[in-house]
Amino acid sequence: MEERIATNFIEEIINEELSDGTVSCVHTRFPPEPNGCLHIGHAKSLCINFGTAKKYNGVCNLFFDDTNPTKEKVEFIEAIKKDIEWLGFKWYEIHYASDFFENIYNLAVKLIKDGKAFVCDMTADEIRDNRGTLTEPGKESPYRSRSIEENLQLFENMKNGMYKDGEKVLRAKIDMASPNINLRDPVIYRVIHTPHHRTGDKWCIYPMYDFAHPICDSMQGITHSLCTLEFEDHRPLYNWVIENTGVSHKPRQIEFARLNITNTIMSKRYLKMLVEEGVVEGWGDPRMPTLMGLRNRGVPSEALKKFCEEIGVAKANSEIEIGYFEHFIRDYLNENAPRAMVCFNPVKVIIDNYEGSEEVEVEINPQKPELGKRKMTFSKEIYIDAEDFSVNPPPKYFRMKKDGLVRLKGAYVVKCNDYVLNDDGSVKEVHCEYLPDTRSGSDTSGIKVKGTIHFVDANNFVPVEVRKYGYLLNDAEYNGQDFNERLNKNSLEILSGVAEKYIESAPEDESFQLLRKGYYKKMVKDGKIIMSEITSLKDSFKAK
Ligand code: ATP
Ligand code: MG
Repeated sequence: MEERIATNFIEEIINEELSDGTVSCVHTRFPPEPNGCLHIGHAKSLCINFGTAKKYNGVCNLFFDDTNPTKEKVEFIEAIKKDIEWLGFKWYEIHYASDFFENIYNLAVKLIKDGKAFVCDMTADEIRDNRGTLTEPGKESPYRSRSIEENLQLFENMKNGMYKDGEKVLRAKIDMASPNINLRDPVIYRVIHTPHHRTGDKWCIYPMYDFAHPICDSMQGITHSLCTLEFEDHRPLYNWVIENTGVSHKPRQIEFARLNITNTIMSKRYLKMLVEEGVVEGWGDPRMPTLMGLRNRGVPSEALKKFCEEIGVAKANSEIEIGYFEHFIRDYLNENAPRAMVCFNPVKVIIDNYEGSEEVEVEINPQKPELGKRKMTFSKEIYIDAEDFSVNPPPKYFRMKKDGLVRLKGAYVVKCNDYVLNDDGSVKEVHCEYLPDTRSGSDTSGIKVKGTIHFVDANNFVPVEVRKYGYLLNDAEYNGQDFNERLNKNSLEILSGVAEKYIESAPEDESFQLLRKGYYKKMVKDGKIIMSEITSLKDSFKAK
């Protein structure tokens, strides 16, 4: 195979192996456990696994690590497939650890026959208490010297359901004094009397991840088993399993840094908690950092992939600013999203010297002039955004204020003459006059105004609900607080809005740049149009 220029340390390793003949092709796998939905961190792993395979004209499998029936569900398998399709990746083969249960079992029996595994009666607590520490060796199990015959019999009994959960385990016989705790006679099989979503009640013993994973990698012909850094200390065990089970194909494990993002939870355990405690509406809530959530939010998959590409592949863990991710969303939508006008918490404005109505034109997307313009109407009564009118304007307020001039986007310059307040002090209506020779496109007045605001015709609009989202986590960075303290209890804000009419006929799920407000996706719920925030307009991200 022709050598390619390496852009990260994984590719450097592969190039070396290709040139010295250690490997002749690249076959990776993405190995989710179906115990939750994929999150943005998994997107990075997906990009690395599928991206590396593609670069070397290799292939990437989808591999479900379904070795724990108490936590896994079929619905997650389906959701994961959908997420991967959304990102546009195509897996070569799909496999489940459970497809290999027979092979894994046989290899465990082989280890016993070779005197390299034993059945242990210690409880999980006892095993932990005897494991030792980083500075002290562990204590050998009193069951370690059982004969091969006895171990074979007991393991078969385990398989035949003669013991309760936790009563007996199979452990690899390695070295209780190893400086690597993972090599201190790790548990490789346990009893779990829970039906499995694929194998039913065929099995009541299940292999541990550290035992199953290298075997499954080998059986699939994986050349490079790419995983996150927390498995670095497990690599000696991975290699021990490969060597001692005698499997013929030998994959290589390489670890890369996990993706962490500020203000973002990146652990299925916590995401599950948010769902179960009802903090969010489910795994696909638009505030969730799950791929399902991002998709529902309206995040373009192209933006997510570009982000993963740009952050690269590192060997050391770090935290990426959430603003950097948003930057790619904005970049994509600025190019691709049509513009629309929506006024939040609308304020009624009456143009006292105007009668009738007329059509005005505004660009669909100034980034793509070839798309042309869309038509809006302008009439005697319009709405503006609450933020665009001030009774007590601060200095340099160039939006609508008494005695001030402002341009209505695509229409006229208007002068505000007066306003009427409600009893509670809120603005009831604003009165303006329009300047007839200031029409956009044919302005002959020579008048210069400092502010342009958007508006919606009060005689031709569609009411919408506006949903704005805050981060689920309050603090920008993690400083050791309790998770519940970090949780932002006010991450959903609902406002009323009025939208220009064409939003009504636009397709559901279409993303828009709402002028001066942000990027929003159109959703429809119970016949009601919801404009759901994707991301704000302003790029707060400053490259460090
Ligand atoms: P979590 O801790 O969120 O539950 P996990 O690692 O247990 O995640 P798996 O389903 O086992 O989830 O992960 C599948 C693959 O995705 C693994 O190879 C894992 O290393 C990788 N992965 C998980 N989280 C991240 C992350 N934040 N950044 C990069 N890769 C990740
Ligand atoms: Mg895991």
